[in-house]
This record gives sequence, C-alpha cells and structure tokens, in this order.
Amino acid sequence: MKLTVSFRYRFLFIILAISWALAGTLLIFQYQREKKFRTELLDARLQADNAMIANGLRRGADIREIVGDLDSSVENPRVTVIGETGNVIYDSRGMVSAANHNTRPEIAAARASGHGIATERHSESDGSTYFYSATLTDDGVVIRTAAPYTHSLETFLKADRSLIWIMLAITLIMSVVAFIVTGKISLSIRRLSAFAEQAERGEPVLSSEAFPNDELGNIASNIVKLYIQRDARHRDALRHEKEKIRIKKQLTNNINHELKTPVSAILVCIDVLADHPEIEESKKYELITLAKSNAQRLDTLLKDVADITRMDEGQEMIKKCEINLAESIINIINEYRMRTHIVIEANIPPMTIYGNRRLIESIFRNLFDNAIAYSGASRIILKADSQGNFCFSDNGSGISEEHLPHIFERFYRVDKGRSRESGGTGLGLAIVKNAVAIHGGTIRAVSLNGLNFYFNLPPKT
Ligand code: ADP
Repeated sequence: MKLTVSFRYRFLFIILAISWALAGTLLIFQYQREKKFRTELLDARLQADNAMIANGLRRGADIREIVGDLDSSVENPRVTVIGETGNVIYDSRGMVSAANHNTRPEIAAARASGHGIATERHSESDGSTYFYSATLTDDGVVIRTAAPYTHSLETFLKADRSLIWIMLAITLIMSVVAFIVTGKISLSIRRLSAFAEQAERGEPVLSSEAFPNDELGNIASNIVKLYIQRDARHRDALRHEKEKIRIKKQLTNNINHELKTPVSAILVCIDVLADHPEIEESKKYELITLAKSNAQRLDTLLKDVADITRMDEGQEMIKKCEINLAESIINIINEYRMRTHIVIEANIPPMTIYGNRRLIESIFRNLFDNAIAYSGASRIILKADSQGNFCFSDNGSGISEEHLPHIFERFYRVDKGRSRESGGTGLGLAIVKNAVAIHGGTIRAVSLNGLNFYFNLPPKT
C-alpha cells in the first residue's frame, strides 16, 4: 500500500513542481517585461518634454516661459536644467542646489550616452521621490524632467496584476486536474499492488475486471488474467497430483487386500499337499485345481492392475495406432458366440479408430464377461453408429439404483461373493471407463430392462 500512495504523490509532486515553476517563471518574466515597457513609456513621454524644452532653448526662448507653456502628458512635472559643470541653471521647483548634479545617476548616464533615467530616486533638493529622465543637448546642457511619484504614477508603473490571478487560477486548475489524473493512473498500480499482496499471501485471485479501461489498466488486467490462468492450472495440477497419489494409495491397499485371499488359498493347498503326501488322488486333484484357479485369479488381478496403472501413468505411455474397429469387435463377438449360449446381436458399421488395440479390446471383453457372469441375460445387443456412439445392452437382471453410481469405481462389486467366484477383480468397469476416456469418450450405465452401457469412441476422421 505504501508503495502505491507514494507513487501517486511522487508523480503528483513532480507534475505540480513543474507546473508551478513554469507558471512562476512565466509570471516573473511577463511582470518584468510589462514593468519595463511602462517605464520606457513614461521615459518616452519625459523625453518628449525634454526635446520640447531643448527646442525652446535653441530658439532662445526663456526657460520659464517654455516650462510654463509645456503641455506635458505627465502630471506636475519638475524641470531642471543642468550646466556642463553639474551646476543647476534652472529648476521649476526653485530648488537651485549648489551640489554638483553631474554625479546624479540620470545626469551621469545622459552625459555618457545622451540619455539617462533614474527610477524612484529620492531628491536631495526637495526630499520628494521622482522618476527622472535626462537628455543631453548639443550645447552640453542636460535637460531633466522628473515625474513625482504620485499614487496615479505608481499605479501606472505597476504591471497589471490580473495576469497573476489568471496564472494562479490556471495553475490551480492544473493542480486539481493533475490530482485527479494521477489518482486515475495510480488506480491500476494500486490495484496491481493489492493483487500482488493477495497473490503473495496465497489467497485466490478471482477477477481481473476491476482495472480502469486504459493502457495501464489493460496491461494490469492482462497480468492478473495470466496469473489467474496460471494459478488455476497450478492448483489443478496440484489437485490432480494429490488425487493421483490418493488413487495410487487406494489401489495399493486394495491390491494388498485382493492378493491376500488367493495367495493364502494357494499356500493352504501347497501346505496340505506337502504335509500329507498320503492323501488320496481325487483330493490331491481338488487341491491342485483350487490352487490353479487362485493362481489364475492372481494372474487376472495382476493384468487388470497393470492395465489400470498404465492408464494412470497418462496418455503418453499408451501406444496408439490405426485400428479397424468394426473388424476387431466382430472377431471378439465371434469368440464370445463360441463361449456362450447367450444370443449376441450386433450391428457395427465400418469404422477406423486411432487407439490402443489391447485397451479397445478390453472394453468389449469386460462388457461381454460381465454380461455373461452377472446379468443372467439371454440376449446381448451391441449397436453402433458411424460417429462411434455405442450401446451395449443385455436383457438380464440389471443393477439396483444404489449400486449404479459406483460400478465404475475401482474394486467396487455389487455382489462380492458372486464376483469373486466368477473370477472378477472389481476392476473391469474401471478399466472400461478409463479406456473409453483415453480414446476421447465417456461412458454411462442405465439399468432398464437389463443393463445398458452408452459410450462413444470417436472414430478417426
Ligand atoms: P469385475 O471386474 O469384478 O467383474 P466390474 O467392475 O466389471 O467388476 O463390475 C462391477 C460390478 O458390476 C460387478 O461386481 C457386478 O456385480 C456388476 N455388473 C457389471 N456388469 C453387469 C451386468 N451386465 N449385469 C449385472 N451386473 C453387472
């Protein structure tokens, strides 16, 4: 938070400093220019008076008359005529001082350059303050006209103050605008900073809509959007990883459990055979058959576990190729027709799929095995369309509503005893579901007039 506020005020401070400095400089410059212009204007007027007096003197007129007739534009001017040695020849106020006037700044300047002024100078002769303008004439005399500092002269010489107020108003308006603009600009940064803090704390960031609709806002919103996407992916990956670990753990526990029964059955058979070599042949045969069927159960379990594990490892581990799906299914059907008395009806249009032959076959084999083992059906119907939508139904007992949502779970059995008896591992439908998913499809089961599986295996286009 600190960073955002300081950014806004730092930014504002820079803008204000520049604009106030600019306004101040402009104001001083303009003020001086106007003052100079007014001084020059007054000087020009007094110079005009000096020129008129000089003309009069040149004509040989009396100075008193000249000054008396002088139509000056300046109010109550004081006229002084200074001789070459700095002596006062004439002064309209009658202040004929003996002091050397050549040292007065306006006189010295006039003698040096022909023209000199002195602003706001206090007169040593009469104690008043004047604006002096002196002109050197051709015969070495300096004519000086002075305007006394009355209120109206002071007002005239002062620059117009209205400019100050205008500049002040403009600068104030600029400051307010700068305040608002920096507020708006810093809004994106403030929100981005709040977002960064939120992200640092590990809190989920849900939306990126709150940014202003400008360039900075768009950049900030894109950063947040990107973060949200990546965060979601990261969280998903974590969830996925956790779920994978959970499933693996569950699988390991279930495998241990499933292994116990056949392994101990085999051990018991072997123990009895080893400890009692005298037992009769028929009993021996029974024990060997029992051990063999349990070994087969173990074999099936290991194969099913291998399939499930392979699919869990991910798509990359599964090799795929082009498969003539219709042909493969027909071959499996023919095989099952030989193994069962259940009527199998099939209608499969020609289609090819890009997939894994073993997994594809395991889908249909598991469904046929289950229908034969559990449904008690007299008829199995397998239908498909050319889009790869399949319906596998039997007219058997179906599955009750309470079990139906769980049949695709690993090691889930509706009738545990019967399932084990028939050599089922409880992994068959889990393998079917995963195999369908690996080929880009989904599967669902509906129990209506038997059990119906609807699934799709998108064909190669
Ligand atoms: P298994 O590998 O032990 O055969 P599955 O996962 O294939 O297990 O099946 C789960 C359960 O669903 C089985 O225990 C069985 O009771 C039930 N089942 C599966 N197919 C059918 C069917 N066609 N008719 C009735 N019950 C079925």
